Amino acid sequence: MRAVTRSTAKAPEALSGADSPAAKELQKLTAWFAAPDGSPPAFAVYKADSVKQQLDALFHGKCAYCESFFASTAPVDVEHYRPKGAVSEDASHPGYWWLAMDWDNLLPSCIDCNRKRKQVTPRLSAKLLTLRDDRQGFNQGGLLLSGKKDSFPILGQRAMSAAQGFADEYPLLLDPCRDNPDEHLKFHIDRSNLIGLVLPRPHTGTDLPPGAAAGTAREGNLEEALAAGLSLKGSVSIHVYGLNRLGLVQERTRLLRQLEFLEMLALEVGAMADELLLDPTALPPKVVDAARRLYFLQDQILGQMKRMARPEAPYSAMVRAWIEDFKVRLQA
Ligand SMILES: [Zn+2]
Repeated sequence: MRAVTRSTAKAPEALSGADSPAAKELQKLTAWFAAPDGSPPAFAVYKADSVKQQLDALFHGKCAYCESFFASTAPVDVEHYRPKGAVSEDASHPGYWWLAMDWDNLLPSCIDCNRKRKQVTPRLSAKLLTLRDDRQGFNQGGLLLSGKKDSFPILGQRAMSAAQGFADEYPLLLDPCRDNPDEHLKFHIDRSNLIGLVLPRPHTGTDLPPGAAAGTAREGNLEEALAAGLSLKGSVSIHVYGLNRLGLVQERTRLLRQLEFLEMLALEVGAMADELLLDPTALPPKVVDAARRLYFLQDQILGQMKRMARPEAPYSAMVRAWIEDFKVRLQA
């Protein structure tokens, strides 16, 4: 997951202005919820073409949660961060219907992050604390239900209406437009053990609302994460979005192998050039030229690694983490 600044894209036409389709839909819904009669009005405006276009521009055709590029093979699933029609964690909640057409609440998602499906996931992702130490997690993996759908786990007090605001809600799911995912998630970068896992980052939890840390009953893995000082948002997001499902881990691992290969090439080519120029005073021009071309090649390889970390590239947050680690290793 990569942080995205929503204000870099214009709000979609269908959602902007007092006369917009969104404003009209909200009016209808407000009237219905004030005096329910018959079936509620349908949610339709969030699916408008202008919404899809702007989400595409903002996220470069990638899933907001897992950074998979899906625009080439599948239509965008416009997903509601706060679910519009129901809340899995609270059967009495009607859903955040007043945000169904709110630009800030809409994200593009791939099918697997959004829909509830059973996924092959390392069993230990249910116990996020030990996942780090589990090298063969998938051997003992099992089918775990993941996918966000109507999930919106929080700590604190859930807002039941637009009037209430969200000051008392502490969402346990990451939103790349509101949170900085880097504060909550980290990638497993280990050249001796290439596996594209994402893990919760240690986190002090100082942004928890007062009283939330000592709140009421929580699921076991939340308690574990809290006790170990790991980010709750990170832990829950990995679990709910299924960020370590088998297909994703395989894709990210393939990318790690490419990065390792490019890094090896860059270092080797640089070392060859250095050797050629060991004593530059007595070198034939051909050798100097060969060294120059090797350095050029090295620049190209490093440039390619950087391009793989650009916002439009899939899994760019992981690539960035690799490059940071590479820099540290170079200095060492
Ligand atoms: Zn996804």
